[in-house]
Amino acid sequence: MSFEDYRGVWVFMEVKDGAIVPVAKELLGAGRQLADKRKTELAGVLIGDGVSALAEEAIYYGADQVYVYDAPIFKHYRTETYMRALLACTEKYKPEIILYGATSTGKDLASAVATDLPTGLTADTTQLDVEEDTGLLLASRPAFGGNIMATILCKKYRPQMATVRPKVVRALPRDASRIGTITRESIELREEDVRTKVLEIVRQTVQRVRIDEADIIVAGGKGLGSPAGFQLIHEFADVIGAAVGASRDVVEAGWIGHHHQVGQTGVTVTPKIYFAIGISGAIQHIVGMQNSGLIIAINKDPGALIFQSCHYGIVGDAFEIVPMLIEQFKHA
Ligand code: FAD
Repeated sequence: MSFEDYRGVWVFMEVKDGAIVPVAKELLGAGRQLADKRKTELAGVLIGDGVSALAEEAIYYGADQVYVYDAPIFKHYRTETYMRALLACTEKYKPEIILYGATSTGKDLASAVATDLPTGLTADTTQLDVEEDTGLLLASRPAFGGNIMATILCKKYRPQMATVRPKVVRALPRDASRIGTITRESIELREEDVRTKVLEIVRQTVQRVRIDEADIIVAGGKGLGSPAGFQLIHEFADVIGAAVGASRDVVEAGWIGHHHQVGQTGVTVTPKIYFAIGISGAIQHIVGMQNSGLIIAINKDPGALIFQSCHYGIVGDAFEIVPMLIEQFKHA
């Protein structure tokens, strides 16, 4: 394998409900920096049915080039069809780096592509950099229970691939004056050759709070004592228009669903404001919220670890302080 043949940084442009998902725009922001450092091109790969109009959006968010596979066979995400398109494109243009959002689709596609290419995949990364001269991708992620950051290298193979958690890198501001190239691509693929068929899409009916997209999060921990005590977190969140987050112990106790869990084995969040209430501040929780704009902790133990990771700390009983905050904000 000659590394000289591989050029460019690519981002898989995941589309959901007719729009490019936020993490793909964030990756264009990060990819732009990597591409500039390598003095190479940043490309987006857009796959779907009726997605051509989104190609310009990818350019406005930083891409120089967009490869578009637009056909009915790509209407729903299926590992097999998307993988075939991406593999064909990779073989044709030979990118040096491919980035995917660490969403369920991105993780599935990246691992499927990695099994077919002679290369590896660094999953769930939170930091990206590239060596300017060698093009070696420096993909970092928490390791050993979140106690260290491990930088994982793919020294022998190209392309280098990583999935990147939502909200850990920043999108560039949308710039509609940017120009780039849109290249239409296609592959020979007939519906009867695809093993998976989508029979029906059943949408989840419960209102799901997207903590990874919230500007304000009120997160509660075991300090709330019980499911009834945890209602205080919901009440406060409602009053200030925040999403509800939780520690793993709360999720494991069944007080709230897993998609509210913040941390190493939950979601990484970067809201403008993060309230940590009755949360001890274990490292596995901190790695998931430490990049929040403003962290406010409420804990009755002055020695709680959370006070080492917050901007403002209130030492006191949540059941005394939070009702006071609710009253204040209700009348604000
Ligand atoms: P506790 O540690 O029990 O802390 C409760 C806190 O509430 C204490 O600090 C206490 O002083 C305070 N308190 C009690 N009563 C009150 C009151 N009335 N008012 C105010 N404060 C009060 N954890 C996560 O959160 N996310 C993860 O993704 C995650 N992943 C993990 C992965 C691994 C491999 C491992 C080993 C652990 C992981 N954990 C994770 C668990 C983590 O180590 C902690 O156990 C967990 O975060 C603790 O939850 P907690 O802070 O709610 O509970």
